[in-house]
Amino acid sequence: MVDVPRSADVVIVGGGVHGASLAYHLARKKAGRVVLIEKKFIASGPTGRSTALVRRFYAMDFFTRTASAAADMFAHWKDVIGGDGDPGFQKVGLLALAGADKATHLRHNALQAQKLGAGVTLISPADVKTLVPAANVDDVALASYEADSGYADPSSTANALVNRARELGATIVQYRHVDAIRAAGDKVVGVTSEGIGIDAPVVVNCAGLWADRLLRPLGIEVSIRPERHLMCFFRRPRGFDVHPAVADTVLMTYMRPEHGDLTIHGKLSYDEIVDPDHYNEGVDPDQIVTNAELIAQRFPVMEHGLAMGGYSGLYDATPDHHPVLGAIPEYTGLFADFGWSGHGFKHSPAIGDILSDVILHGRAKDYDLAAFRWTRFREHDLVPSARWTAEPHPKHRL
Ligand SMILES: Cc1cc2nc3c(=O)[nH]c(=O)nc-3n(C[C@H](O)[C@H](O)[C@H](O)COP(=O)(O)OP(=O)(O)OC[C@H]3O[C@@H](n4cnc5c(N)ncnc54)[C@H](O)[C@@H]3O)c2cc1C
Repeated sequence: MVDVPRSADVVIVGGGVHGASLAYHLARKKAGRVVLIEKKFIASGPTGRSTALVRRFYAMDFFTRTASAAADMFAHWKDVIGGDGDPGFQKVGLLALAGADKATHLRHNALQAQKLGAGVTLISPADVKTLVPAANVDDVALASYEADSGYADPSSTANALVNRARELGATIVQYRHVDAIRAAGDKVVGVTSEGIGIDAPVVVNCAGLWADRLLRPLGIEVSIRPERHLMCFFRRPRGFDVHPAVADTVLMTYMRPEHGDLTIHGKLSYDEIVDPDHYNEGVDPDQIVTNAELIAQRFPVMEHGLAMGGYSGLYDATPDHHPVLGAIPEYTGLFADFGWSGHGFKHSPAIGDILSDVILHGRAKDYDLAAFRWTRFREHDLVPSARWTAEPHPKHRL
């Protein structure tokens, strides 16, 4: 067990992929004594259950830029991050499918992403069929394809980042709960953890589903709804080889290949809210049937596939499904990186870089985090949907 330091320059609460990335970037930038505290083990929360799609564009420039920057890091991990860790990135390609109702937005967002340098091309339903002959494209009006995208292993990614952070001098404490963030007046002065105090002028809340519990005593009210999302495994029949990852806004599903001849498949939205400490981590039988029907609609050959069960994971959903990111100005030294609402994995290696600059220098070069301030919720200034087929909106060019 690691000795728990009684003081630090920065304390990070939470060892999901965002806390891990921030620890790595702070250590790399020589931010002093960086201590990450995780109540269980690294990636034990939603990170470990992530489908971990790595793809490159959204309806909003900010996310297109962070997703693209992060995708490049996944693709060149050894050169960029270094160390012995491997995020398990698999470049299987990614198809986004749109029906006639969303084709205009997909076109607009993909062309805008191209201007930003994101590797995406628009393709016709016939091109989709050429790429994946097993696909049914009758209901597809337009698609985009990212040849260099794919998926990673979320637990390996988080562990690669903390291991690298440790090599660069950070302290990683596991199986230790942070009970409170301590403040004196309007300044953060550290945390308390299982009866001991750790003094620190900077505390970063990367506690995902549990982030709101640490903020409420400080008078910062953010709603985090733990949304239960179900993922199902299907064995592909003989002859249906590996396929690209698919983000399907016609059927409102997504899928990607998993090890061997498995495909992991889920719906894009669920609305069941649960207790994050006590919920059904398995998959509901009726949802296996629904997912089986949906995957067979896109790939008719999957009528001969085999359902192999599944699991549930939780999204830390904020009211607009976007994160709280950056300084919490009510307290000097308090920062946030949580509430990614189901789309946080892919951005994580880039966000740690951006947030570490904000912590160390007061701002990040080329990125403005103002839209992600926590007060937007009480100001009714929500960030609109940034889905790749969403309507372009005023915050598009952040
Ligand atoms: C089923 C599923 C599929 C997904 N698919 C994708 C995808 O394809 N692409 C994508 O980009 N994103 C995806 N996501 C979302 C993505 O996985 C998350 O946004 C991301 O992993 C969140 O990371 P995090 O570090 O912010 O939070 P978490 O993983 O929630 O980590 C927070 C950590 O903080 C710890 N903690 C909390 N409170 C305390 C405390 N008081 N003291 C100490 N430790 C504490 C927790 O134990 C936890 O380990 C998916 C998520 C799920 C559930």
